[in-house]
Amino acid sequence: LDFGITPENLDQLSTESFPLCARNMHEHMRKDHHLKHEARLQFGLFLKGIGLSCDDAVRLFRQEFSKHGISEKQFNQGYKYNVEHQYGRVGRRVNYAPPSCTKIITTKPPNGPLEHHGCPFKHFTGSLLEQRLKTYGLPPKDMDAIKELAQKGHFQGACTKYFEFTHRKKLTTVVDQIQHPNQYFEESRRLID
Ligand code: SF4
Repeated sequence: LDFGITPENLDQLSTESFPLCARNMHEHMRKDHHLKHEARLQFGLFLKGIGLSCDDAVRLFRQEFSKHGISEKQFNQGYKYNVEHQYGRVGRRVNYAPPSCTKIITTKPPNGPLEHHGCPFKHFTGSLLEQRLKTYGLPPKDMDAIKELAQKGHFQGACTKYFEFTHRKKLTTVVDQIQHPNQYFEESRRLID
């Protein structure tokens, strides 16, 4: 599937079609011009999975991190390799796949300060989740339904509801449970494109 992904159209795609985990990391990358290790891994593989090329991924992270004061030399020494590694271009040349929701929810370490990896339905506090959903324009009734599922530990159920509510106008059938951030994105593009 070719969604024509480039660093230039990511902002629009993020708003329209990223699941909350990816949208959260994307927004922090744009705002803080940096992401810590776990989020770089998770977000990098998500972007790879939706079709961002390796060269474009290097370009994206270089541009953003330079705004955080990371020099070209530092980037090439400390970050470029990791991006290329994810694409299997260097090192063991393994073609790494983006992790599923279950893997993210069960194996990602807890978030320390300034860390944005993982599943927000699991690690956001109730008030942060509410604030974020409000910012994204969800009405109180929808927010409450999502929050309730998240609080009960049904993280993927909360994500599926979030998908349903944010694609309501385009939906013609019942939404399958979200199992993978990249499945979320692909199903969204199918409805929007
Ligand atoms: Fe991302 Fe999966 Fe959590 Fe949804 S349920 S926010 S796709 S990790």
